[in-house]
Amino acid sequence: MAQVRSYAALSAGAPLVPFTFDRREPGTLDVEIAISHAGICHSDIHQAREEWGPAIFPMVPGHEIVGRVTRVGTGVSKFKIGDLAGVGVFVDSCRSCENCEAGLEQYCLGGMTGTYNTYEKDGTTIVQGGYSSGIVLNEHYALHIPESLNIEGVAPLLCAGITLYSPLRHWNAGPGMQVAIIGLGGLGHMGVKFAHAMGAEVTVLSHSAGKEKDALAMGADHFVDTSDTAFKKALSKKFDLILNTVSADLNINTYLGLLKLHGTLVVIGLPGKPYSVDAGSLLNQRRSLAGSAIGGIAEIEEMFAFCAKHGITSEVEMITADQINVAYDRAVASDVRYRFVIDTTTL
Ligand code: NAP
Ligand code: ZN
Ligand code: ZN
Repeated sequence: MAQVRSYAALSAGAPLVPFTFDRREPGTLDVEIAISHAGICHSDIHQAREEWGPAIFPMVPGHEIVGRVTRVGTGVSKFKIGDLAGVGVFVDSCRSCENCEAGLEQYCLGGMTGTYNTYEKDGTTIVQGGYSSGIVLNEHYALHIPESLNIEGVAPLLCAGITLYSPLRHWNAGPGMQVAIIGLGGLGHMGVKFAHAMGAEVTVLSHSAGKEKDALAMGADHFVDTSDTAFKKALSKKFDLILNTVSADLNINTYLGLLKLHGTLVVIGLPGKPYSVDAGSLLNQRRSLAGSAIGGIAEIEEMFAFCAKHGITSEVEMITADQINVAYDRAVASDVRYRFVIDTTTL
């Protein structure tokens, strides 16, 4: 067993502290990765603070992981030592249900095995995430990362990136389409970059007026400050597709009203409280309310090829491990520009 350094929450809502634990020895089909970068997703905060219900502690969060392969099992064919590799939101799934076979492991009928806050298939070993110096997982669930991408901006692609890429692809974002992104945080800013690169006309709906310049620089065509309620009327029935990435409570009916005929609002943010939906907001214009969760391994590979082609990475603020707790508070205050990434050599 290899001992790894990490930062962990020892109980719900407690500040994260240095923590060491053992990773398993790589099995026949496992790869071992020395982690260099780990992004901070708002889902890490929700779980470490138990905002989604009972969680498992000690918890080493982190599911935006990048590093180099250091060991491979004897049966591994996908990676060799030295490869740049990434890990996202899940490290296993049943591998045999129809969704896994279709490359949609995130919707595994048996339930995917998350990268942390869950147990291994043995039911007792806690799975620990990316705020750590190393990780071991089955080769299928690790991703090759194009060496051409700016390494600091890559880790967030493994959750924030794929979580916006997947619905944009599913709902065919492209030329002639009006796409709105609610919330310019870690997820939202990746949505702006992807939707713009796919050719859609992109509007950012943000409650932080100070983010306008950045949004336009990332490729948004329009920026709307939602703290001024005039947008409800001005943008009524405008959009084909709205992606809601907000991590907090939101009046979803306000945003449904911005969809044009047959438009779809996709729920991506997971605030932990139910939305209240007016039937009228849906019936009018035959609108759809949908959801989307991350993306499967094949689609993440497709996204990395897209990123390499268009030179897309995340806008990041690199931090040291001792800044994680401050970063959590800043993210909750919508003060993230636009993803915190931990330099894991500082753990
Ligand atoms: P983030 O970086 O903190 O960004 C969230 C953004 O939401 C903020 O920057 C802010 O944007 C907006 N916001 C926050 N509080 C708000 C409020 N009270 N009213 C209005 N807008 C508010 O978070 P993230 O990492 O992008 O994650 C966003 C959500 O997606 C989280 O709930 C996370 O758990 C969830 N998530 C879902 C999936 C999935 O598979 N579906 C995957 C990853 C994460 P503005 O300042 O621009 O308004
Ligand atoms: Zn995430
Ligand atoms: Zn499955």
